[in-house]
Amino acid sequence: MKRMLILGGGTAGTMMANKLRKALSVEDWDITIVDKDKKHYYQPGFLFIPFGIYQKEDVIKPKLDFFPVGINSIFCEIDKVIPTENKVLLTDGKVLLYDILLIATGAETRPDQTPGMKDKLWYKKIFDFYTIEGSVALQNAFKTWEGGKLVMAITEMPFKCPVAPIEFVCLADAFFTEKGLRDKVEISLVTPLSGAFTKPVATKMLSELLHDKNINIITDFYIERIDNDRQVLVSYDERELPFDILSIVPMNMGNEMVARSGLGNDMNFIPVDKHTLQSKVYSNIFVIGDTADIPTSKAGAVAHFSGEILFENLLNFIDGRPMTEKFDGHANCYIETGFGKGALIDFNYDVEPLPGTFPLPGIGPFGLLKNTKMNHYGKVMFRWIYWHLLLKGKELPIDSHLTMAGKKKEGA
Ligand SMILES: Cc1cc2nc3c(=O)[nH]c(=O)nc-3n(C[C@H](O)[C@H](O)[C@H](O)COP(=O)(O)OP(=O)(O)OC[C@H]3O[C@@H](n4cnc5c(N)ncnc54)[C@H](O)[C@@H]3O)c2cc1C
Repeated sequence: MKRMLILGGGTAGTMMANKLRKALSVEDWDITIVDKDKKHYYQPGFLFIPFGIYQKEDVIKPKLDFFPVGINSIFCEIDKVIPTENKVLLTDGKVLLYDILLIATGAETRPDQTPGMKDKLWYKKIFDFYTIEGSVALQNAFKTWEGGKLVMAITEMPFKCPVAPIEFVCLADAFFTEKGLRDKVEISLVTPLSGAFTKPVATKMLSELLHDKNINIITDFYIERIDNDRQVLVSYDERELPFDILSIVPMNMGNEMVARSGLGNDMNFIPVDKHTLQSKVYSNIFVIGDTADIPTSKAGAVAHFSGEILFENLLNFIDGRPMTEKFDGHANCYIETGFGKGALIDFNYDVEPLPGTFPLPGIGPFGLLKNTKMNHYGKVMFRWIYWHLLLKGKELPIDSHLTMAGKKKEGA
């Protein structure tokens, strides 16, 4: 009996457990999944909680509802991996052995990494909608807020779902407009990037969109600290930005378990081959989801596309065949833009988000880098797809590799 051990039963771990349990015989392969938390959070839903569109109960379900029959599930904190001995230690003293290790422990917010972030204004005037606690606290704050400077700030790259702060400011614009308070709320997006997004064509489209909504974009702002007494964000180059409510994306890091195992970089993300997700050091360790240090978005959609490739490669690896499938960095993100509309971007390691139609050339129905009602429905549908198809490891009618069909190159 061989052992497949999956660390982390969030989006990527659950999806892989479902795929692998179907494919590997129960006589030959024992599959175990370990997670510290019994609750599964639909993290894309956190974005909607501050605005009362979703409530806490809309984004939480028991993890066990999504794990396949025929695997062992252990709920305990992982202490560390000892890769030279094919061994994992849990904090309750248990030792788990593996033949193949799949690490899917995600990325988490680390407000403790920035001076003044988790201080006396935390959850009073400073909120992180990247956690359930933060998004609920912000919902409560917005209920009675009468206006002022609303600052949405990004601490450092990389972070999960890089479009979420853009969505946040768009939804805030719609929310305060509908409340009749928009003229009393000054909304700013503060980023360490030199534009609204990482790639030029999408940056241009998104900057114009924010400009039309009267949302300021403050670029190249690297947060050094937050002065709680004066309610200002201070950058390394000593610029200061006052806020009345600060919605912040704290530094995102991989779990400390990665550091204790000596497997990660300085942000606890694990270096892997970007096409196969195989550890650069240990051939029987693979990393999927936000923990992998690959140059594409940290997103559930990426976990899905890369999971299809990893699944095929794992079956080859198990049978001693070469891993012929190559992940191309495919990411596909709906961007909620408020007032029942949305945009969509589709890109990979080599191709930046381009305008056009998706998935069918000329027909769509979704518009790339366009602000449409249909794209909003795509975002709404994503929650259903997530719970019913993505987590269960089912195939989606979208190619795992990026396709150029329907995309228009600039100037074409
Ligand atoms: C606000 C927000 C909006 C988003 N919007 C989108 C979107 O629109 N589209 C999209 O595709 N993606 C979106 N994402 C990103 C998406 O949710 C993540 O990319 C995805 O969940 C990553 O999956 P993962 O399995 O790598 O990590 P997770 O799903 O976070 O799972 C990691 C698991 O590991 C467990 N774990 C960690 N360390 C330990 C330990 N030491 N011991 C035991 N267990 C441990 C955790 O408990 C957790 O269950 C969004 C994220 C956020 C926060």
